[in-house]
Amino acid sequence: MAAVPSGGPGGPPAPAGCEVRAAAPPKGFGLFACGACPAYTEMFTEEPLFAMQHSGNRRVVAACARCCGFIHSVPLQLEVIFGESRFAPLLAALGDLPQRWQVSAGEGPASVVRCAQGCGEIYCSEACRDAHFQQSHNLLCVGPLSEDHPLLRFKYHALEHADTLLLAAQVFAFLINRAKAAGGGPEVTRNLMQELLCFCHAPFREACRPPPGRAKDAEFYAHTDGLVNQAAALLRAALEPHAPVEVGALFQAGSAFFSEVLGMFEYNNIDLEVASPMGQLLLQRAKALSLSDGQALAELQQMEGLLREKEWVMRCVWGEETTGIYGDEVDEDSSQPQEMDTMMQAMEQGNDEQVVTAAMAHARAEVAQMSLEQLLQGVWPSMHGTGLFSSVARMNHSCAPNVKVTFPGNSSRLTTTSVLNISPGDELCICYVSQEADVQTRRRRLLEYGFTCCCSRCLAEDSTALRKAQKRLK
Ligand SMILES: [Zn+2]
Ligand SMILES: [Zn+2]
Ligand SMILES: [Zn+2]
Repeated sequence: MAAVPSGGPGGPPAPAGCEVRAAAPPKGFGLFACGACPAYTEMFTEEPLFAMQHSGNRRVVAACARCCGFIHSVPLQLEVIFGESRFAPLLAALGDLPQRWQVSAGEGPASVVRCAQGCGEIYCSEACRDAHFQQSHNLLCVGPLSEDHPLLRFKYHALEHADTLLLAAQVFAFLINRAKAAGGGPEVTRNLMQELLCFCHAPFREACRPPPGRAKDAEFYAHTDGLVNQAAALLRAALEPHAPVEVGALFQAGSAFFSEVLGMFEYNNIDLEVASPMGQLLLQRAKALSLSDGQALAELQQMEGLLREKEWVMRCVWGEETTGIYGDEVDEDSSQPQEMDTMMQAMEQGNDEQVVTAAMAHARAEVAQMSLEQLLQGVWPSMHGTGLFSSVARMNHSCAPNVKVTFPGNSSRLTTTSVLNISPGDELCICYVSQEADVQTRRRRLLEYGFTCCCSRCLAEDSTALRKAQKRLK
């Protein structure tokens, strides 16, 4: 997403039917169509260069550490969602039902592949595990390490401050592995760094956004610089024993390259969202059950109890970091997310116990009113993550885009689809923010990408808003 006029040529080749070239200033590079494409046509699919599940989302979705797809295991997905000890009786009462639901959905027996070194990473397949190990996990696995190892301290630091630090570690490990595979040495490493720099726009201190209401003052810069330098020092200490020469090249300018990589993620990453298979799976099972006998009725009742508990957990236990449903992306009329926020904050701070108890009871009562049909239609949490895609990173923003990005499969492979008729030579644009949002909201959110949108839609809506305001004043 070349929002800021920098970045450069080079990098991985454009997908078939597209080319990367300079866009109209003040935009930098953009992705352009070589041929015509009718509206609502699939254009290309793409694997991420780097991707990861958000750490908060790991509390509710068991996803593959390599491809971000849901692990094919109903028992494991339920264990993760109902991970707190207070739900143990609920899971125990289900017995082997989750395993049977898995098989009845034609998914075969549940299969979970774990990192052989015991770090806790999980994978959908041995192929994903091996690919992940070769790409970066060989240098980033904490399985065999002691608590005070710099890599563990780096991971704690990242969990405390920003997920993208973990993604930057993946980049560094990947570059070391690639450099070594190509014979190693500082020159090879520097060339690989250069390839990546075509996506980079600014160091982290420039690219990152301050918390709401906070200015980018000297104190803020000191804070972000400190955070980045500490992370870079820990990562360097963790990786250096494996590849002293290559690591030396990566950190030749101190934490400068590390900071550029973090800045690249700030501007270029897109949100990953993979839908849960759980709802569909249980719906089908419920349909099959309603046609048969008394034993089926008992199973249906157990499923209903489980779904009711899940609805309650969805309302009460998870914050927006976990579900990926953010308050400011929801229409203003819906007050529920704000309520939930307040509740989460009160819970975290351990105060306002009465407020929390009352809100939980309210949610309990709401859920008790739901019919089995409604429960079966209820949403299950998606996999939420972030990723860098080489072609999509080249696409500029438009509030009236001609392309949209989706994740239709059970993985981080994205699909781009035209949403307008596209002519040869047209620039391909996506909307970086919620397209339904009004002009003020869009502009506010786009500021995070470093620009004020002045597209034709923004200008038209802006003048309408202005006229309305003027009318009110008269
Ligand atoms: Zn996988
Ligand atoms: Zn591991
Ligand atoms: Zn706009």
